Amino acid sequence: MKTQTFFIRTFGCQQNMADSQRIASFYLARGYQEVKNSKSASEIVINTCMIRQTAEDKVTGLVKNIVKNSALRARGSPSRRPKIVITGCMVGMAARDGTGKYLKALKKRIPEVDEFLPLEEVGFDYPALRQDVSHSWVPISNGCNNFCTFCVVPFTRGREASRPFADIIQEIKELAKKGCREVTLLGQNVNSYGADLVKSSKGLPAGRQGYKLPSGRIVKPVMVKHLGRYRIPTLFPYLLEEVCKIKGIKTIKFISSNPWDFSDQLIEIIAKNPKIDRNIHLAVQSGDDHVLKRMNRWYTAEEYLELVAKIKSRIKGAQISTDIIVGFPGETEEQFQNTVKLANDADFAYGYVSKYSPRPNTTAIKAFPDDISHKEKDRRFEILDRLLNHKGNARTAIH
Ligand code: SF4
Repeated sequence: MKTQTFFIRTFGCQQNMADSQRIASFYLARGYQEVKNSKSASEIVINTCMIRQTAEDKVTGLVKNIVKNSALRARGSPSRRPKIVITGCMVGMAARDGTGKYLKALKKRIPEVDEFLPLEEVGFDYPALRQDVSHSWVPISNGCNNFCTFCVVPFTRGREASRPFADIIQEIKELAKKGCREVTLLGQNVNSYGADLVKSSKGLPAGRQGYKLPSGRIVKPVMVKHLGRYRIPTLFPYLLEEVCKIKGIKTIKFISSNPWDFSDQLIEIIAKNPKIDRNIHLAVQSGDDHVLKRMNRWYTAEEYLELVAKIKSRIKGAQISTDIIVGFPGETEEQFQNTVKLANDADFAYGYVSKYSPRPNTTAIKAFPDDISHKEKDRRFEILDRLLNHKGNARTAIH
């Protein structure tokens, strides 16, 4: 019997790259062989992104091209086209959209797709198939509970679920033994890691009282104080601390972190562990308080700047990068100028600027008309991109 082969094409962020490494393992476990070229694959897996409409359009274009090119190659011979499988955010959205409208529209747009593979079917039990031994992406959580009004992630990846603490430590120890020297911990909101684990921990008092780490050490979950009240209990500072202890690991990075969960304890842990990278990515999205409020981002421009100043003063050599959206519905020139001012004041190392794109099921698409013209979004993009990245080299937002 002919061996089945697969080829994976990945769109989107580092989380998707890491997911693709587990998808590859999932296919190998089913007896498939990986090929380096889509032309020789019997199955093409497309790991999709939905962060903007253009990301979805790229997937549609790729599917159409696969079908067209394989028909040209076949030239009347009975050779079959490869099976087309889509996975990732577009499938996540389809699975979570209770109305079924998104799936219906998707099937209409790309009827050529043979299978929709939900990431839940792949899970976390397959070891990631990594090409680069020295550096590894390590997912620590999936999904997000924050529901920023513009963001599709809670609808594509669902609610935040943390990987067990012990599994992460075990995976990194094994990676270190194989020669890995640098890890990047991945999650939509890494610094809220563990909130769900704390709530579900058995045998110990819930919440702030205590959590038993795999080492046996009992810690008090870090309660993140925000807007005068405690928001969530997190274990992220402890996770970082434990990863720092793993022999062989020389550098630890993490993305993405949100301003409202960046605790003082986290700052202290970074400050005293030189293994933790000093380049910190902290998405601000806007420098205007009204826009932030309508984005459902729970901090003011002033609070954000205070946090940046605190990080820089306590962590020697800290550099901050950011994400900013221009042309959010209703953003006035004055509000945009507040973002320009914040970008100047924060002295970012660099920034990922993106133009607002309405995303299905989000609050923004339902509540706010997309009323800033493309031309105006382009103008604002150019101004900020030049300011943040000096040469005008556009960068694509992480999330
Ligand atoms: S922007 Fe980030 S924090 Fe906000 S909902 Fe999306 S993934 Fe969550």
